[in-house]
Amino acid sequence: MSELHTNSKLIHLEKNFSKETGAVTPPIFLTSTFASGNEEGFDYTRSGNPNFRNLAQSVALLEGAKYASVFGSGVAAMTAVMSTAKSGMKIAAEQNLYGCTIRLFDQVFRNFGVHSCYLDFSRPEIFTALDEIRPDIVWLESPTNPCLKVIDLAAVGTYCQEKDIILVVDNTFASSAIQKPLEFGATLSLQSLTKYANGHCDALAGAVATNSKEWFERLEFAQKALGLQPSPMDCWLVSRGLKTYPLRIKAQSESALRLARALEEDTAFENVYYPLLESHPDYELALRQMKAGSGVVAVQLKGDQEETLEFLRNLNLFTVAESLGGFESLVCHPFSMTHASVPLELKLGAGITRNLVRFSVGLEDVDDLLADIKQSIPKSVRDRLCKARTTSRGCLKQPSKPSQNLLSDCL
Ligand SMILES: *Cc1c(COP(=O)(O)O)cnc(C)c1O
Repeated sequence: MSELHTNSKLIHLEKNFSKETGAVTPPIFLTSTFASGNEEGFDYTRSGNPNFRNLAQSVALLEGAKYASVFGSGVAAMTAVMSTAKSGMKIAAEQNLYGCTIRLFDQVFRNFGVHSCYLDFSRPEIFTALDEIRPDIVWLESPTNPCLKVIDLAAVGTYCQEKDIILVVDNTFASSAIQKPLEFGATLSLQSLTKYANGHCDALAGAVATNSKEWFERLEFAQKALGLQPSPMDCWLVSRGLKTYPLRIKAQSESALRLARALEEDTAFENVYYPLLESHPDYELALRQMKAGSGVVAVQLKGDQEETLEFLRNLNLFTVAESLGGFESLVCHPFSMTHASVPLELKLGAGITRNLVRFSVGLEDVDDLLADIKQSIPKSVRDRLCKARTTSRGCLKQPSKPSQNLLSDCL
């Protein structure tokens, strides 16, 4: 048989460990311990379980990696990586990082003598700065949360390989169906499986993929030594989620692109952020390193914080919640939710303004999602836009036929 495609392999890769019953779906191995001397070498669930092994194999396949280790959450995966650091080590991290990553660096590992600094990896001067800092670890996310800045992974990967720096890429936002950081030179590709991989908002897990045997051994050691293992039940749920993962990512990316284009046309919004919009400053780079745009779209409403929160409350199909990547659409207000603890200046510098909204586009029909967004724009915003238009019509030449979009603003 010819070599199977990844989506076919994903369906058939799992071992179901059930010769006697013929069960098509692997069971959930809810056992803490295993009789010694068993064929597969299982010992105690903190250091391995058939459900962990199935999930790790699927993650390795998706990341194009030789090895993968699974953990109890994305944060547990980060803790596993960080537990290998030694006092005096330096981390140079992208300034737009997931909040809990910054908390882990600054409030936990700093106490053990590991210091981190935060830099803008999209600037060409970044390499001069890294030459000066001489970090042991570079840690970044691309696209970043929530404004979806894209970092040149190949450029950073090449630099880190030349200088023997450990490069960790948090691949949660792109997801491994869209971007494979190890191909660009990352040492480790980390992800929260809680998001796109599981996709059903009903389990937590994390993973780290690598091509280095030494790193794999260190991570497997951390799993059992620090007690960072996932639960067999959650692994089973994420493995189930992965069967539809390529389909979900494709559908969510298509809907997100359509939604982003429609929001760009709507005068109630400004600055639509989506990597595969031609207007995105990193569009060319995104095309080079991402197979699709993923399901997150961020946008600024032409209104103040009160109006933005009213807009969120008006939405029916988007639940106001943190997290992303599930089949149901979510929306959040990064300024007061995911990034509430970030100092104001840093927030504003990163584009996290009071009127910024982040959508996680799910699997509902995109026309329904768009209709929901349109009907949720607060009346005060529509009225203001309308007024501005009618006033300017007094002095400007009136368009002979208003576009549909202009009309809908005034309804
Ligand atoms: C959610 C998330 C994490 C943490 O994952 P958990 O599974 O919630 O612990 C890490 N990085 C990014 C980018 C995330 O979005």
